[in-house]
Amino acid sequence: MAVKRKFHKTFRTDEGCDGFNFQNFNVIPSTTAFRVMSLARAKETNASADLAAERLAKERLVTERADLRAILDDLNVGIVLLDQECQVLFVNRAFRRFWRISDAVAESRQSFVRLMYHGRGQTASSMSHYRLGEYLARQMKLIQAGKERPLHIRLTNGEVIQFRCKALPNGGRLLTYGNVSELAQQADALERLACVDGLTGLNNRRHFLVLAETEWSRFKRYGRPLAALVIDIDHFKAVNDTYGHDAGDKVIKAVAEVLRTHKRTSDIVGRLGGEEFVLLLPEAPLDKALAAGERFRQLIADCAIVASGRRITVTISVGASVARADQKGFGEVLKEADIALYEAKRSGRNRVCRFDPDRPVTLVAVAS
Ligand code: GH3
Ligand code: MG
Ligand code: MG
Repeated sequence: MAVKRKFHKTFRTDEGCDGFNFQNFNVIPSTTAFRVMSLARAKETNASADLAAERLAKERLVTERADLRAILDDLNVGIVLLDQECQVLFVNRAFRRFWRISDAVAESRQSFVRLMYHGRGQTASSMSHYRLGEYLARQMKLIQAGKERPLHIRLTNGEVIQFRCKALPNGGRLLTYGNVSELAQQADALERLACVDGLTGLNNRRHFLVLAETEWSRFKRYGRPLAALVIDIDHFKAVNDTYGHDAGDKVIKAVAEVLRTHKRTSDIVGRLGGEEFVLLLPEAPLDKALAAGERFRQLIADCAIVASGRRITVTISVGASVARADQKGFGEVLKEADIALYEAKRSGRNRVCRFDPDRPVTLVAVAS
C-alpha cells in the first residue's frame, strides 16, 4: 500500500512507521495524516497480535516438547538425538540409566563420542575399554553413513543391545538402543539346536562339515597337515539287543565323552550319525593321526560303561586319512577315512587302519 505525500513523493507504509516523526511532515493534508496515523496504529495492533500469537506458539512448542520428552523417557528403548555435527541434542532416560549418564551431562550439548566415553568408567564391568572403542568406531561408521543396519553388542552380563541409526531429513540422526537379549537367547538356542547333536552334545554332521570346510581352506592355502579319523562302535547292534536301547544310548554318550575330553583343544569332533563319530585333526600328519586313533581305541576298550546296572565294554574301529593337494574337497578326505574304516571292520574290528593312496589299505595297529 502506498501513501502520496506532498511534492508527489511516494513512500510505502510497509517500509515501517517506527520512529516516524510527524513533526517533519506538517505539509501533509489532514486527511492523509489521519490515514497514516490509522495505518500506524493498525500496524501496531497487528504487531502486538503477532507477538501474542508467537508467544502462544512458543509456549505450545515447549509443552509439546515436554510431552514428547516424557513419552520418550517412558520408553524402555534408549534414544539419542544428534544434530548434523553429531552433537547430542537429546538423551532419553533409558539411555541415561543404561549408560549411567547424569542429567547434567545429558543436558550439556556435547559430541556423541564424548558422551559415550563419559559412561565408560561406570560401565567398565559391562564392556572392556577395548571393546567400547571398537563398538564406538562401528557405531560412528553407521552414523556417518546414515545406515540403518542394526549393530549388536553383547555385554559381559550376557545382555545383547541392538543399536540402530536413522538419518533424519534435517541431517541429524536418531539413535535407538534396544535390549534384545531374549531374542538373542532364542536365536542362540536355535543355532545350538541346529549345530549340536541332541544325544551327545557333539557337533552334528552338518555343523561338523561346516567347520571342516574352514580347516580344509586353511590346508589348501597354507598346506598345513590335516587328518581325519572316522570312528565306529563295533557290534553296537548287539549292545542294543542285549541291554536295551537306553543302555545303547548311554554307550554312545560315554564314547562321545571320551572323544571330547581326550582330544586336543584344536581338534574338532562330531557325531556323523548312529554310533559313528568323526575327528578332524589340524596340524596332524599321518603318524600323529594314527597315534591319536590308537590312543582313542585303547581308552574306549579300557572303559567300563555302567548302564542298566551292568558294566558294558565296547570297542571301536578307526579309519584314518590325511588331506592331499590333489583332492578336490574335504569330502574326499572323509571318503578315504571311510574306506580305511571299512578295512578295519573287514579285518577284524577293534583296530586302526589308514588309507594309503598307493596301496589298497594298510593295517597299522591290531589290538592283541
Ligand atoms: P559293526 O561292528 O559292523 O559296526 O556293527 P554294528 O552292529 O555296530 O553296526 P550296525 O550298523 O549293524 O548297527 C548299528 C546300530 O546302531 C543299529 C541302530 O539301531 C543303532 N543305533 C543307531 N543310532 C542309535 C542311537 O541313537 N541309539 C541307539 N541306542 N542305537 C542306535
Ligand atoms: Mg558299528
Ligand atoms: Mg555304523
